Amino acid sequence: MAPFNPRLLSDGLNRGPRRKSAEEYINGVLSGNRVILSQAITLTESTRPEDQELASQVVHACLPHAGNSLRIGITGIPGVGKSTFIESFGQLLLERGHKISVLAIDPSSERSKGSILGDKTRMEALTREENAYIRPSPSGGSPGGVARKTRESIILCEAAGFDRILVETVGVGQGETIVHSMVDFFLLLMLPGAGDELQGMKRGIMEMADGIAITKSDSGNDKRAKIAAADYRRALELFPPADHGWKAEVILTSAVTGMGLDEVYSLLENFQESMKENGFFEKRRKGQAVYWMNEYLSELVRNRILENRDSRQYRQEIQERVTGGTLSPFEAAAMLLEHALKDRS
Ligand code: GDP
Repeated sequence: MAPFNPRLLSDGLNRGPRRKSAEEYINGVLSGNRVILSQAITLTESTRPEDQELASQVVHACLPHAGNSLRIGITGIPGVGKSTFIESFGQLLLERGHKISVLAIDPSSERSKGSILGDKTRMEALTREENAYIRPSPSGGSPGGVARKTRESIILCEAAGFDRILVETVGVGQGETIVHSMVDFFLLLMLPGAGDELQGMKRGIMEMADGIAITKSDSGNDKRAKIAAADYRRALELFPPADHGWKAEVILTSAVTGMGLDEVYSLLENFQESMKENGFFEKRRKGQAVYWMNEYLSELVRNRILENRDSRQYRQEIQERVTGGTLSPFEAAAMLLEHALKDRS
């Protein structure tokens, strides 16, 4: 008999003695079983073709049961207090009867081979809560790949009955844009008294925000927090009004004293109510679905072309003409596409 191997019992990885059927994954997710939800998400992150095929079936079957949540993006620079905020705000959501899921996006992990969201144990209290599900960032792959996995995780979590999905990202680089394009509400966390240069840097991101929470507005910081809030309110006034009619609000918060968390909750509820009433809630989600379809299409087309072994020689020649300055990169791309399409017909 083979020696006992505890790995065979592991729940998060598909290394069990037998792979589950699509049915088992689907039923498990729909019944809210967190172990199976974890396994299903792991399946969507797998690069093995047979896993991907199975994951597609599972996600497809869960789709009609998804969508019933408020998707909240939370972003801010490292140290702004994201995990502490989510820990406290998450507790408040649980007290109000919600089931919450926290997903992280860390598009930097590939480049730096390490996560800027940190390896520290985050949100320790939340991880012990039965109605909270916390999932670290999928690692590796292109930002588009990470985004696809997170979108699939959102669908699976919603199908499992989670009605508040918090998608967290570090406010550097591409993270915010990716998160913004998959959530209903985009909450920007800002430090009190951050320098002007930082505010300048954040302008584009501020424009995406549906709400700004000034973190750490507790003792010692309250004066600076009030000044920062006034500054941000003034800055927000300068943006042209959005067509959905929502005006981002600035709220002073402290994850330590709990200050402002109620207000953030009300802000989210009001947002949801008014956006559903004027139709922008659905409109935004539909727009996001089309956006991701097109993004993924570009990725697929690009990968198909670049992975095609038969056209490697042709690609090499084209590339040499581009580097030699006799062909523009744009002409070259068009030629490669043309060549690939001809190849298939
Ligand atoms: P993250 O990198 O954005 O996730 O930030 P963390 O949540 O890890 O917080 C960074 C630091 O700020 C930690 O030392 C926290 O204890 C501290 N911190 C977070 N929120 C608050 C707050 O509301 N008040 C105070 N005084 N400190 C806070």
